[in-house]
Amino acid sequence: MNCQICKKSYWVETDFTTFFREKFICKSCQKLLDLPVLEMTIPIESGALDFMVMYPGTTLSPELETSFAQKYVIGLIHAITSNPKYNIVLYFEDIEILYFEQWFPYVRPFSKILFLSLTDVNFETSVMFR
Ligand SMILES: [Zn+2]
Repeated sequence: MNCQICKKSYWVETDFTTFFREKFICKSCQKLLDLPVLEMTIPIESGALDFMVMYPGTTLSPELETSFAQKYVIGLIHAITSNPKYNIVLYFEDIEILYFEQWFPYVRPFSKILFLSLTDVNFETSVMFR
């Protein structure tokens, strides 16, 4: 059987419980999918910036990011059901930290901000939070 996420081959015993299974995901991909989402709040001048990391403590290869993006649904449900509502919801990936200083002024006026990221982002390298 090939994992539907990483495409690697793995062995699965075919029996009545697996025969009608729609998704075949290997144990290592399932372990990543089962990681609890990390939520943190960063105070900013105008309010708070909430940050949700879908796969904390991991790195994902670029070719797998699309497959693992399915977990963004947790952040989107959080955004839709939060009270008070978020002013803005943005996807934030490692590469954005390089340009964060340039575009953050456009986000700063909002008082309730949600950033969604697949993996950890090190804000300590950004001068915005020093
Ligand atoms: Zn896999």
